[in-house]
Amino acid sequence: MAKCPKCGADVPKMKKSWKMAGRPDKSGKRMQLEIGLYQCPKGHTFREVLSKKKI
Ligand SMILES: [Zn+2]
Repeated sequence: MAKCPKCGADVPKMKKSWKMAGRPDKSGKRMQLEIGLYQCPKGHTFREVLSKKKI
């Protein structure tokens, strides 16, 4: 569950999610981020990082 950053409403379900490779850090390692897209009852959409892992 996520909270809308604009109005504070709780958003129980995710609209969609996808995986994305982050930028390499100083040592050249990259993180794979899992991003979720949420839409609150008032229609605001926002993204949240669900998980990060090294790839
Ligand atoms: Zn909202």
